[in-house]
Amino acid sequence: MNIPPRAAPFSFSEGALDPAALQRAMRDDTCGGFACFEGWVRNHNEGHAVTRLEYEAFVELAEKEGARIVAEAVKRFGVTRAACVHRLGSLAIGDVAVWVGVSAAHRDEAFRACRFIIDEVKHRVPIWKKEHYVNGDSGWVNCERCALPGEHQHDHSHDHDHDHAHSLAEPAPDYSRQMALREVGPGGQARLRAASVLVIGAGGLGVPVLQYLAGAGVGRLGIVDGDRLEPSNLHRQTWYALADCGREKALLAAARVRALNPEVSVEPHVTRLDAGNVDGLLGDFDLVLDCSDNFSTKFLLNDAALRTHKPVLFASVYQYEGQLQLVAGDDSTACLRCVWPEATRDGLVGNCAEAGVLGPVPGVFGSLQALEALKHLLGLPGLGANEMLIFDLVTLSAQRLRARRAPGCAAHGGRSGAAASPPATLEVEFASLADALAQGYTLVDVRDSRERDAMPVPAPSLHLPMSKLLTEASSLDLDGRYLLVCATGKRSAAAADLLRSQGLRACQSLRGGLKNLKAPA
Ligand SMILES: [Zn+2]
Repeated sequence: MNIPPRAAPFSFSEGALDPAALQRAMRDDTCGGFACFEGWVRNHNEGHAVTRLEYEAFVELAEKEGARIVAEAVKRFGVTRAACVHRLGSLAIGDVAVWVGVSAAHRDEAFRACRFIIDEVKHRVPIWKKEHYVNGDSGWVNCERCALPGEHQHDHSHDHDHDHAHSLAEPAPDYSRQMALREVGPGGQARLRAASVLVIGAGGLGVPVLQYLAGAGVGRLGIVDGDRLEPSNLHRQTWYALADCGREKALLAAARVRALNPEVSVEPHVTRLDAGNVDGLLGDFDLVLDCSDNFSTKFLLNDAALRTHKPVLFASVYQYEGQLQLVAGDDSTACLRCVWPEATRDGLVGNCAEAGVLGPVPGVFGSLQALEALKHLLGLPGLGANEMLIFDLVTLSAQRLRARRAPGCAAHGGRSGAAASPPATLEVEFASLADALAQGYTLVDVRDSRERDAMPVPAPSLHLPMSKLLTEASSLDLDGRYLLVCATGKRSAAAADLLRSQGLRACQSLRGGLKNLKAPA
């Protein structure tokens, strides 16, 4: 017998559906079973008498997602043919709103594929409807609502289908609270679902980032972390349990993502980012989030961003302060090395283990990072390339600074500006600060206020804590002869290095720090 032409796997129809014709098109002589689902417009919903409905869709996105669902069903259940047609426009009571047909060798896979298609279409395809009520009112209805667990499961099922089964099954993710935002809506939700984000680090920053991105329904999440959970992590990585200690964080985080939102495809990598794996891991992700706590990883990611032209959103936390910077990965906007030309060495500025941190501090910056990532994926305004956000959580003051594309940036293919002869050595030793003052140095204390109070500098000095170096370096005189001091000389050396790269070429650091002074003053 003749096999009728195949219909598109997923399509929309402005006009009434003809189920008999749709069914004829599914005939296949190799098949012994055909299953069909029809959703109908019914005359009431949530206690309201409904007179008619209107359907709207982001057609282009919806057709792509719908076709993907039908293809998934064919592959997963091994059926021969499957198709779905959805109505658009104005529908009357009794009209067929959606039609799904599946032909297969046997009935079991036909039933299961049919059920899969209608459930997935309802959850994933950006279609929404407006109900018109007898009293003349109307309202947009969020189809996802029936998936909310425990809430009136039986009295607000879809008016256009008589199948309550999926509200009785496992609860499904529900994005209604974010989709209610005009900036998100069904179109934005489809964008998030189509997006992929790679998260480097599943610690203090990575935990809130992964929680919010998974909750928001970002379709694909990669997680890179080579560490195992330790009890000292838990005060800031509150997603994990004490009993999880000793296990790989990438795997723990992936399990949490799956438990939070099974619609998210998650790829854990139990490894530390290095020069050999970075390009491969960045792969085809749309956006990369740096949630690491060390400079070598950050600069590795920065350079990979420039090579692959992939945007990376960096977050860094130091004690009570942190900053965000988006590196767009192109030639015209600033990168990390444009701002920090001398790659700050690990251990000099200190990570959480050495410097100490209150749990909510990385929580705040991870949340900000998740927010900026969602805005980036949704195309909303936010932190741009050539900008940095610096937020001090002690004073609660935030600053949005310009990050300049440095003409000599080495990562951008330029020569570093250090070609001219360097002035004095970076470090210099004195028996007492009086000797330094006598030689014309101005003392600059780079410790924080608490350390400064606990152990004052025994001579007149300026106060420029590490956390303010970038923002307040402009208060120093470019030609000034500064001697930077801290407790042991490690941080002051890093600070002097940094200030030299900012043009303060005569900066030096007190070797050995205040603890090494032989005379008090
Ligand atoms: Zn650069």
